[in-house]
Amino acid sequence: MLLETGDTTHQCRSVGFLINDVLMVDAGTGASELTLDEQKRIRHVVFSHLHLDHVKGLPPLVDNLAAISDDPMTLASIPQVLNGLKNHIFNDQVFPNFFALPTRDKPILKDVVLPEGQETWLSGIGFTPVRVNHSVPTVGFIIRDNDSSWLYSGDTYETHALWEMAAKVPNLKAAFIETSFPDEMKELASIAKHLTPSLLAQEFKKIGRPELPLYVYHIKPPFRDQITDQLSKLGIPNLTILQEGQELEI
Ligand SMILES: [Zn+2]
Ligand SMILES: [Zn+2]
Repeated sequence: MLLETGDTTHQCRSVGFLINDVLMVDAGTGASELTLDEQKRIRHVVFSHLHLDHVKGLPPLVDNLAAISDDPMTLASIPQVLNGLKNHIFNDQVFPNFFALPTRDKPILKDVVLPEGQETWLSGIGFTPVRVNHSVPTVGFIIRDNDSSWLYSGDTYETHALWEMAAKVPNLKAAFIETSFPDEMKELASIAKHLTPSLLAQEFKKIGRPELPLYVYHIKPPFRDQITDQLSKLGIPNLTILQEGQELEI
């Protein structure tokens, strides 16, 4: 599958990944980085959690789609996230309720609940959400097509179930794991429920595949140099720091 990252790690404005042109995982980026034609092709947006850096690209994307497309787009996640999107964004106060617009019978947005621990297929891609340890209800995902699987951590602190599941996936080709703070800020990382480079190494070990390609994202821009330096000393052989607009074939 073709993966395009909107993870703007230089400025860390937001997090968003585009898969096969039709599916987004998190929507921190969205309308701003894509042409109208590219936006029109997106059929599903899958969310790890509600934090603004993962959802803020959604309202402008939906606004554009409502103007140029008749096909509904689905928003998929666990119920807590879908309810949050409805209650806090598409509530006719912050933004129009596009779950009922342009008409209640044919809205531009539909929701799909992703049951935790079970696989749901969307446009030929399977998603299995697994709860992780963050400050709000958050899931990571095992994502796959017919050839390969990969892991997306969501925002997380120390966790278990996701790594245990990933360890059992036979054709796991890559892991995308966040690292937000440098090791010196491990106290803040534990409060904000994010990883540091040392914690990343500890968590990555739990997958039991030291050679697995590991892509690091969600680096806080003021600490980029520090974190990059610390990541380089971890001894993880296939570690890459994701860049904005990077395309990967997995
Ligand atoms: Zn978060
Ligand atoms: Zn985040």
